[in-house]
Amino acid sequence: MTQNMKIPASLLPRDGRFGSGPSKVRSEQVDALATSGRHILGTSHRQAPVKDLVGRIQQGLCDMFDAPAGYEVLLGNGGSTALWDALTFSIVRERAAHAAFGEFGNKFVASTSGAPFLKQSAVTQYSAGTAGLPAIHTDADIYAWPHNETSTGAMAPITRITDDALMIIDATSAAGGLPVDLNATDMYYFAPQKNFAADGGLWLSFASPAAIERIESIATTDRWIPEFLSLSTALTNSRARQTLNTPALATLIMLADQIEWFNRQGGLSWATQRTATSSSLLYTWAQNREFLTPFVADPAHRSQVVATLDLDDSIDAMAVSKVLRANGVVDIDPYRKLGRNQLRIAVFPAVDPADVESLTACIDFVVEAMS
Ligand SMILES: *Cc1c(COP(=O)(O)O)cnc(C)c1O
Repeated sequence: MTQNMKIPASLLPRDGRFGSGPSKVRSEQVDALATSGRHILGTSHRQAPVKDLVGRIQQGLCDMFDAPAGYEVLLGNGGSTALWDALTFSIVRERAAHAAFGEFGNKFVASTSGAPFLKQSAVTQYSAGTAGLPAIHTDADIYAWPHNETSTGAMAPITRITDDALMIIDATSAAGGLPVDLNATDMYYFAPQKNFAADGGLWLSFASPAAIERIESIATTDRWIPEFLSLSTALTNSRARQTLNTPALATLIMLADQIEWFNRQGGLSWATQRTATSSSLLYTWAQNREFLTPFVADPAHRSQVVATLDLDDSIDAMAVSKVLRANGVVDIDPYRKLGRNQLRIAVFPAVDPADVESLTACIDFVVEAMS
């Protein structure tokens, strides 16, 4: 019966995409793909048109994030997952220290922990739904943690916890949606399919002068580094506005369009105001509903870009999500392995706050009809 439930059209959002990655791509980005794609798609990434596009992305990001002097934008293929292995090979000298509070943080832990040429990684674990910083270890030469843990909807502060090591921040779902001072980071890395509303398959990172020095110095040691995972190779290619191997040009076009859209609106502060508006809309609504509880108990750690809301046991989140999906409102299921009766709603800047408001009305409607 609920399968066929029809949500009144007047309640529906104009755009029903609330996924945490891939996430909503604005139709203007698809238009940009159709327009400039006609000239650029299918042409060499070693020639000026694509190199200029990569240059626009690098410059646009530096403008948007007010990049400090000497910081550079590196990029390569394989997404953030490939970068974890590249960081393990190319930036950890002897020992990595991590904080982990969910799936993504733990995946980077698995990468450094498995490397036979490194000492056992130091890991500060926080339970799902909380967040925190790594503990200090005098022999650690990098500290790594996620700015935003997409699997649980918890965010952590970004601060230089010591001057004796590099700060390596997984900002895959944070960059472009959360405020940050790049001075506190050495690698601040991300992928285009979250706040940048493009497609997956690429990684990008701001690299500080200290990070660049580390990359160059490890490249001169006798450590074997597979070329695909060499950040020294990525540095050389990025400086030439290229990637080691062929990138997906469509991703680059949509990414460039999104960065330029941000910069026309007012850059990172505009984007983060928009995610603050959307997320506080959700948390305030949840607080006013008996059937909802924010999963992250501490308001300071509640994500501004990915809201996780637990549902009362009497209401099946899967059933709610199924009805919404049948009505064109998609991808609000919880992270699979978290296994909670939960809705997970991404409010990246591409998502219109008015649509977030409509989403809450739709969920109210469905829950009311189901109970
Ligand atoms: C999505 C995500 C990743 C994985 O990104 P890929 O580009 O798919 O490898 C890593 N970390 C976080 C925090 C993410 O949200």
